Amino acid sequence: MDVRLYEMRPGVMTPAHKGPHLSELVCSNSLGSASAEHPSGRLKEELKKMGSIIIRCADECSVPAGGSLSVDREKFSRMVERLICEHPKIELIREEVSSLGSIPLPAIIATGPLTSPKMLSELEGITGSGSLYMYDAVAPIIGADSIDFKKVYEASRYGKGTPDYLNCPMDKEEYDRFYDALVSAERAPLSSGEDMRLFEACMPIEEMADRGRDTIRFGPLKPVGLEDPRTGEEPYAVVQLRREDLPGSSYNMVGFQTRLKWPEQRRVFSMIPGLENAEFIRYGVVHRNTYLHSPGLIGADMMFVARSGLFVAGQLSGSEGYVESTATGALAGINAARLASGKDALIFPETTCIGALAAYVSRGKGDRFDPMGICFGLLPVPKGRIRSRKAKRQMQIEAARDDFEAFMREAGDLSVG
Ligand SMILES: Cc1cc2nc3c(=O)[nH]c(=O)nc-3n(C[C@H](O)[C@H](O)[C@H](O)COP(=O)(O)OP(=O)(O)OC[C@H]3O[C@@H](n4cnc5c(N)ncnc54)[C@H](O)[C@@H]3O)c2cc1C
Repeated sequence: MDVRLYEMRPGVMTPAHKGPHLSELVCSNSLGSASAEHPSGRLKEELKKMGSIIIRCADECSVPAGGSLSVDREKFSRMVERLICEHPKIELIREEVSSLGSIPLPAIIATGPLTSPKMLSELEGITGSGSLYMYDAVAPIIGADSIDFKKVYEASRYGKGTPDYLNCPMDKEEYDRFYDALVSAERAPLSSGEDMRLFEACMPIEEMADRGRDTIRFGPLKPVGLEDPRTGEEPYAVVQLRREDLPGSSYNMVGFQTRLKWPEQRRVFSMIPGLENAEFIRYGVVHRNTYLHSPGLIGADMMFVARSGLFVAGQLSGSEGYVESTATGALAGINAARLASGKDALIFPETTCIGALAAYVSRGKGDRFDPMGICFGLLPVPKGRIRSRKAKRQMQIEAARDDFEAFMREAGDLSVG
């Protein structure tokens, strides 16, 4: 199919993107678990078999990160952009789409959690009051050469894989001082009139700390499995830093999404041992995060129920995460092309990871609908009596693998030409 791909940056920027390039990862550089025994790793396997260029580029641009697939974000973004630009059938147009009326169908809207306000009002025209909003946050990035390597140590939790994280150990006194400064630090105000519904998986560190003195010590600062090789003991608390790029020139503060004011971030985070003179390459921020209330609005083929030919994909559809956005994008892309060539839409079995995601966005689960990443909870529970949670999960993964392979054998070549 000939494709026209619209990207509004750099002419119109979002509050979180920094540059003009495609596939910019705005927060973490991790694409989640690499293990095919985990739903996120399984989803990557499915996408690989479907020919996803995002996963191919991520594999080629990966940086060491224990059991997860993490990438050098610059290299990754450049590689995706090059493949798109060199593709003979894709025309990349650097323009904001502000009206859906003139767009020929089939078309896919994948404008993300920071969809431009003009597109948002267009969407509201289609969905009525179906658009929701909430907040999300990003963690600071620190220059490696500003870290005091005498105070930090390299280790992965429980010694798994290569020691890819830097760990900043705290004793009780240091932790208490840091905690008091964190909860009392000045926070950036929210835009007026918008209510604050924080997304649990990306909750700002200070908001998590508000819940109790030890909450973050059992969350992002948990020391378990991170013995300090110099003392042979687990510290009282540990702040972890994850490599951002292959040469290791910068590090992400793991779990430190924040809406503290920038000078306050510098003041409070430099109380962490090893970060006294930290240079912040990027500060943490909180932004609006938009998504559609998709259940009932879109089908498991990713097409609007009431607008044949108009598809939605990515975070906007209610699938949360880089890889999940990739998956719903792949599904919408394949089905848009099939529609254009007179073929039936592909609906994957719900037992597969991509099928479970599509089922979730089209039907939801329970009363409330929040963006969800792929997890065991989205995969159907196997029938019969099951011995243990481990056995149940094993069966879910096996069903996902077997059903995906059977479905792909039947579907044949996914290309539509
Ligand atoms: C601040 C923040 C941090 C996040 N952190 C993570 C994380 O660490 N890990 C994770 O897995 N997920 C994270 N997410 C969630 C989400 O998975 C990612 O945002 C992901 O990139 C979404 O992919 P997407 O393709 O749907 O949207 P995007 O990657 O945002 O791509 C949408 C593109 O559409 C463009 N656009 C918007 N409106 C228009 C328009 N009208 N016309 C033309 N172009 C337009 C934008 O410029 C953008 O390039 C985060 C989200 C936010 C907001």
